[in-house]
Amino acid sequence: MADKILETSSKCEARRAFLTFCSPKTRLLHDPVSDPYEVSGHPNPAGLGEASSFSQKGSWGQSSVLFPLLETYRAADECGRAPYGGAEYGIPLTPEADAVCKKIALLHKGQGAVICSSGLAAIATTVDAFSPKAVLIPDNVYGPMIRFLNRRRIRQIRYPAGASADEFHAVLVRARSEYAKREDLLVYIEAPGSGTFEIPDIDGIIASAKEAELRIVMDNTWASHIRFQPLERGVDIVVQATTKYEGGYGDTPSGVVIAKHLQDLQIIADELRATGNGAVAPTTCARLYHRIDSTEERLNQHADTAGRLIEWFLKQPFVTAVLSPTLETSSYYERFQRYFGKGNSLFSVVFHPGLAAKNIEAFVDELNLFWVAESWGGHLSLVLPVHAKREVTTLPKGYILRFHAGLEDYQDLLRDLNEAAECLQAIDYQRLS
Ligand SMILES: *Cc1c(COP(=O)(O)O)cnc(C)c1O
Repeated sequence: MADKILETSSKCEARRAFLTFCSPKTRLLHDPVSDPYEVSGHPNPAGLGEASSFSQKGSWGQSSVLFPLLETYRAADECGRAPYGGAEYGIPLTPEADAVCKKIALLHKGQGAVICSSGLAAIATTVDAFSPKAVLIPDNVYGPMIRFLNRRRIRQIRYPAGASADEFHAVLVRARSEYAKREDLLVYIEAPGSGTFEIPDIDGIIASAKEAELRIVMDNTWASHIRFQPLERGVDIVVQATTKYEGGYGDTPSGVVIAKHLQDLQIIADELRATGNGAVAPTTCARLYHRIDSTEERLNQHADTAGRLIEWFLKQPFVTAVLSPTLETSSYYERFQRYFGKGNSLFSVVFHPGLAAKNIEAFVDELNLFWVAESWGGHLSLVLPVHAKREVTTLPKGYILRFHAGLEDYQDLLRDLNEAAECLQAIDYQRLS
């Protein structure tokens, strides 16, 4: 432990020294430099934005909701809604949660939405609500979704991460021959998928699933409502981890489910009510409510910075590939253009397979602005190894790191990469290959 603390404090010194040469914008995002041990690893414990003034007007997350008369209560209990917004009981839905749900449903042109305590909870609630026997999932699906399906003993039928319409259809036909009942199967889409960002033929999947009259759920976290509108495209239910871009500063752990059909919305709302998993802190909802408004501006800046970082990585001798559908050289570029048009903060870098892991990890540890952390979508740039497990899709060879380009000045990020990569640039790659 003493070693760890010493290590962290010298790293903090290095970060402080690095920041003195950064632009005011970058300094504002990273100041004060946090010692992860002192702030429990949380970069912005004081919170951000106008969240506090909004939440002071709200419920503060009270459990009991007061009614003037028994009759007022009775009416609220019947429909599950209080006359002041929120539910008749403060656990399933606060007025702040209500406001966020209305906003996000409108943005997706859905019939309504529910909010859950995390993106994963939004996925779990949706799957539980329809309790299928098997789910058709892309091979690059968000990892914890697999863990959830395993725990529920729900069978996973995988289709290739970048499936064509025909490839998906073949998987669906096989699944249908085993599960005759429509309710037994759920079609799940996540695109671009986690870690490696392949894009399947989304329109083809939707057409196939519709023909078979199966319910279609899509995880739209990568795109947010800004880059893709799944309901307009024919998807029935959208899940989005609002922990990521909609919240934008890493302080809104939450997830939303948006339904195209009232009937589905009711089934999902009933599931939440039955399990009591709908309680999301009003402060979180208040932040989210405001931050949603700036999603597009932030996404565009993330995308612009990611593009510049990708350009840099592509020029490095230690890089064999950058995984991003935004690249014209990507096999998914045509689909990317058709569905999303613009990128986001994410890309993965495949390192030269001849490089030792310890060299790559030393590069990561030298970085000052990129923190090692899970999740993404916030103001700070992040990096994390990708341990992708694919069953029906081939993976590139070599160590893979996923980067999230934050809101810092891109020139500062490039300087950080350049300095940290000195150790890698010195290696003779001709000899390695
Ligand atoms: C992060 C993420 C989730 C889960 O969100 P949490 O709020 O972290 O639970 C779901 N899907 C995708 C694609 C994600 O990246």
